[in-house]
Amino acid sequence: MEQLKQKIREHGSVLSEQVLKVDAFLNHQVDPPLMQAIGREFARRFGGQGIDKVLTLEASGIAPALMTALELGVPLVFARKHRSLTLTDNLLTARVYSFTKQVESTVAVSASHLAAGERVLIVDDFLANGQAALGLAAIVRQAGAQLVGIGIVIEKSFQSGRGALEEQGYRVESLARIASLAGGQVSFLE
Ligand code: 5GP
Repeated sequence: MEQLKQKIREHGSVLSEQVLKVDAFLNHQVDPPLMQAIGREFARRFGGQGIDKVLTLEASGIAPALMTALELGVPLVFARKHRSLTLTDNLLTARVYSFTKQVESTVAVSASHLAAGERVLIVDDFLANGQAALGLAAIVRQAGAQLVGIGIVIEKSFQSGRGALEEQGYRVESLARIASLAGGQVSFLE
């Protein structure tokens, strides 16, 4: 997706050979027209698949996932990372190791928002080693729902995430694929 790649070139900053910072348009300040375009692109790629729900992980997945859900005309559910007094229902949970925080935590979705038989699209901001997406996929399985695919805004293709997800048989669609962050430069795969 050229518009996204242009944004990454102009406003992304390479923190290390492993980490790209996109706080200017995705992870802290959010660019609404770009999110809308991202939502349209995911809806174009996954449209016609009978998707019932979009699932993401708070907080950074919410903006692109919400726009995707809006375009598909379905609800968005986000998995919570923190315990909440209001999260009292039957919980579907998974342990997820955070790439950026380097700690493992439990993420949870109330079973009342994910039902058996529903067709689910996972959307997340980044794909590194696939832990977040695998955790969300485990939650979909626990619900007895069906995972239609995984939409990723920025994939770091030099890390192991895509391989891990494809090995499980999941369809992965990424809007920008980064081949390398070496030398402080973002190089795209395609
Ligand atoms: P994974 O679970 O695939 O190893 O990592 C994906 C998660 O870690 C995403 O939900 C995202 O929040 C975070 N993440 C991974 N790599 C990066 C990165 O290079 N930059 C930022 N800002 N977040 C990342």
